[in-house]
Amino acid sequence: MKLVSRYTHIAEDFAVPDLPSPVVAPTLLLWNEAVAKQLDIQVSPSERASIFSGNTSNSTVAAVALGYSGHQFGHFSPRLGDGRAHLLGAVSDQHQQLWDIQLKGSGATPFSRGGDGRCAIGPAIREYIMSEAMHGLSVPTTRCLAVVASGETVYRQPPQQGAIVTRVASSHIRVGSFQYLATQGDVSALQALADSAIARHYPEIQSTGSDRYLAFLKAVIEKQITLVVSWMRVGFIHGVMNTDNTLISGETIDYGPCAMMNQFDFDTVFSSIDRQARYAFGSQPNIANWNCARLAESLLPLIHEDDEQAVELLSPLINGFAEQFNQAFTQMWAQKLGFAGHHTDDAQLVAELLAILKDHRLDYTNTFDELTKSLQGEQVISQPLKAWSLKWLKRTDQHSFAIMRAANPMMIPRNHIVEAIIEEFENKGSSEVLAAYLVALQNPYKLMIENAQWLQPPADGGAQYKTFCGT
Ligand code: AMP
Ligand code: MG
Repeated sequence: MKLVSRYTHIAEDFAVPDLPSPVVAPTLLLWNEAVAKQLDIQVSPSERASIFSGNTSNSTVAAVALGYSGHQFGHFSPRLGDGRAHLLGAVSDQHQQLWDIQLKGSGATPFSRGGDGRCAIGPAIREYIMSEAMHGLSVPTTRCLAVVASGETVYRQPPQQGAIVTRVASSHIRVGSFQYLATQGDVSALQALADSAIARHYPEIQSTGSDRYLAFLKAVIEKQITLVVSWMRVGFIHGVMNTDNTLISGETIDYGPCAMMNQFDFDTVFSSIDRQARYAFGSQPNIANWNCARLAESLLPLIHEDDEQAVELLSPLINGFAEQFNQAFTQMWAQKLGFAGHHTDDAQLVAELLAILKDHRLDYTNTFDELTKSLQGEQVISQPLKAWSLKWLKRTDQHSFAIMRAANPMMIPRNHIVEAIIEEFENKGSSEVLAAYLVALQNPYKLMIENAQWLQPPADGGAQYKTFCGT
């Protein structure tokens, strides 16, 4: 594995050299051959457990822990950082694109704040399954290369087996990374980070003047909108959209308390710690807007030496978020309903459908799948949707099926199924179904007979399901 260092030039306490803490008995549990291939990572099977637990290194690049701040549930923490993760470096794929390789659960760092730096096996496997599912659903996401059991106990309630996840991301630059440097008043480091983020994610931004950073914010806003629209298209609730969990690249990161919505309701919340419903399904666009505003604030000194003038320049971008989101959201509903163009009555049609879904507690995924299949006579439209569907059918044409099939998955990683598979894995040290499940999740828009067992919501609708932060 040829690693290069990416962040050490930015500031001394931005990327702090730190070694993973060795574990007693590393055992490889999961290996993602597709990711290894894409990234051209050639590590022999016998070395994988040792390298991807952090026990040994085959690189001359020093591992680092990154510093970052974060607004967590609206409250600002100036110094969070990688408390249980080590960035080994970045690898370059065949297209010369760089990918960060990070170990999570690899021991305490200077940012641990009293935490043990470890990760339990359940959340590790969950991150692997959920991120692979999101990849299969064509949602931008970080991915997992490996999960290695540590052979150690991590002391949670109750105690659990430990594991290390290897996470792959196009970068680990977060909104919180900018907040960290802005809070310290380190403008040259802030500029170095912004330039590095632009080079890595937005090379199309050519300008060298201060409008460069306006263009950067604009590009990040676009990526965040695309991300949240993709989440909402498939019923994903992130659950912890803090600024430290918001990547500048617009990839999904931090799968701790996330969950999939079964019955449609914009107010759905699964995370046990989200008591104010800040991160409810339907609140995700507003929160993304809020997080982009926090990024804008951090960029102020790069925009103009006079704060007021900088605010004047940045504000239109932040104020335009909602309108821009709505356009993308309208487009998403049009695709889910099979419309190529746009009619003025479409919004009404969508609103009526969503009201029926909510009133009848209908399953979000299966309802859109049912509508899709109905166009080919593969499924009869169920009673609550009958009257509405007559209006909808008038709006469809010969292209509608293909549009809908691409937008509406048949298979999502349903919470109760993911739980059951993880439980089996934890109890037996393996899972017979997991491998088949991971294959199925790569084809969520195709009808596969063998996947039938994974398509239904739980009998009770699953509204009471709770997630816990995977620490
Ligand atoms: P998260 O909830 O995973 O986004 O983490 C929020 C912050 O808590 C980050 O700075 C993490 O590095 C830190 N953190 C989470 N779990 C641990 C742990 N077990 N040990 C040390 N730091 C942790
Ligand atoms: Mg996090």
